[in-house]
Amino acid sequence: MRKNLRLLLHILRTCERPLLPVRVRMAHARDVPGEWGHVYLYENEAGRPRDFVIKIRRNRMLRERKTLLHEWAHALTWQEGRAVRDHGTEFRSTLRRLERHYLRQDRAIEALEEHKRARKARKKAS
Ligand SMILES: [Zn+2]
Repeated sequence: MRKNLRLLLHILRTCERPLLPVRVRMAHARDVPGEWGHVYLYENEAGRPRDFVIKIRRNRMLRERKTLLHEWAHALTWQEGRAVRDHGTEFRSTLRRLERHYLRQDRAIEALEEHKRARKARKKAS
């Protein structure tokens, strides 16, 4: 995984944590059902949702960021009992928000710093 994508992933894990853990893999085109990427939801032995796996086709840099944000929006808006792949209203507004804050690397780094400042302030207040 490219350094800049790894950084974006770190920022998303810090600032936009979904209900379940997310693992991300770069994959060859033949191993990804979607045009750019795919998100899977895995269950544990008891049939309970366990984690997400996002597969991203190795590609141009900007598209990898866009794809990660798209699949991450699925993980964020997923709710138990609903399919992972859903492009409804909630998904679209989440994706718009993610792209506004994280598509550009400089903005993503700013968002991370803002998140850290807010966390510090909350700690101080409590
Ligand atoms: Zn999708």
